[in-house]
Amino acid sequence: MSKYGAMCKMYASEMCVRVANEAVQIHGGYGYTKVYPVEKFYRDAKLCTIGEGTTEIQKVVIAKNILK
Ligand SMILES: Cc1cc2nc3c(=O)[nH]c(=O)nc-3n(C[C@H](O)[C@H](O)[C@H](O)COP(=O)(O)OP(=O)(O)OC[C@H]3O[C@@H](n4cnc5c(N)ncnc54)[C@H](O)[C@@H]3O)c2cc1C
Repeated sequence: MSKYGAMCKMYASEMCVRVANEAVQIHGGYGYTKVYPVEKFYRDAKLCTIGEGTTEIQKVVIAKNILK
């Protein structure tokens, strides 16, 4: 079951970063500044791939479950 938890956490986190990154890009230079909250959305999204088990660690968990 930890395999599916790791898969969900990794996919949702990576998708969150992808979407937030696209949002920053759409805003152009403003996306990089603090004029709009989109830069914070990106930083908040990025934490998902680091906190509570990084993406790399989720991959280790998934691999161990698949290869055991
Ligand atoms: C804003 C913020 C809030 C936080 N809040 C909390 C909190 O409330 N409670 C708490 O307990 N922690 C908290 N943390 C800590 C967070 O859980 C850790 O930062 C996270 O677990 C990553 O650990 P690390 O920073 O020591 O990175 P490291 O373990 O040093 O990893 C560095 C890099 O190496 C990679 N790596 C490490 N080991 C492997 C491996 N075996 N194979 C492949 N790649 C590997 C990692 O994926 C990462 O990319 C917080 C962090 C931040 C930034």
